[in-house]
Amino acid sequence: MYIKKVVIEGFKSYREEISTEPFSPKVNVVVGANGSGKSNFFHAIRFVLSDMFQNLRSEDRGALLHEGAGHSVVSAFVEIVFDNSDNRIPVDKEEVRLRRTVASKKDEYYLDGKHVSKTEVMNLLESAGFSRSNPYYVVQQGKIASLTLMKDSERLDLLKEIGANKRKQIDQVVHYLE
Ligand code: ATP
Ligand code: MG
Repeated sequence: MYIKKVVIEGFKSYREEISTEPFSPKVNVVVGANGSGKSNFFHAIRFVLSDMFQNLRSEDRGALLHEGAGHSVVSAFVEIVFDNSDNRIPVDKEEVRLRRTVASKKDEYYLDGKHVSKTEVMNLLESAGFSRSNPYYVVQQGKIASLTLMKDSERLDLLKEIGANKRKQIDQVVHYLE
C-alpha cells in the first residue's frame, strides 16, 4: 500500500484545488521555496491520517481553512488516494480514496465518496497498520533527535506500541488463512 495521489483544496495556503501525482511507492521528495507550502502539504496528509487532528475545536478548524485577502474559503478538503493492490486496507479494491473535509462547524470523512464515521476510518487505518495513539509512521522534523533524547521508558513504550501493532497485523493474516 502506498499513497499514489493527494488532492487538496482550500486547506491552509492551498486555495485552488491541486492534485499531486504520481507518487513513487519508494521515496518522494518535496522541494520548494521558503513559505511555498511544503509543511502545509505534509500537514494536509497528517490531517487525513493522524489521530492528532481528532476532536478539533472550532478555532482549530478555522485555522485550517484558507484565508487570503478577499479570498477566504468556507470549506476545505484533503483527499488521499492509496494504491491498495496488496489489499493492506481490508477492502477489496485496488485503489482507495480517503477524503476528510473541514468547515467551520464540522469535519467529515468520505471513503470512496461514501460518508463514513471517524471511528470507521480509524479502525480501517488501524487494521492497515497505522497506529492510533502513537503515529510513529509519520516521522516529523526533529523526531529522530527526540528519539535519541527520550527516556528509556518512553523508547520502550514506543517499541511496545510498534510490536503490538505488528502483532495485530499478524493475527489478521492468521485469521485470514484459517
Ligand atoms: P519553509 O521552507 O520555510 O519551511 P514551507 O514551504 O514549509 O516553508 P509552509 O509553512 O507550508 O511553507 O507555508 C507557509 C505559508 O502558508 C505562509 O505563507 C502562511 O501564511 C501560509 N498559511 C498558513 N496557514 C494559512 C491559511 N490558513 N490561509 C492562508 N495561508 C496560510
Ligand atoms: Mg516548512
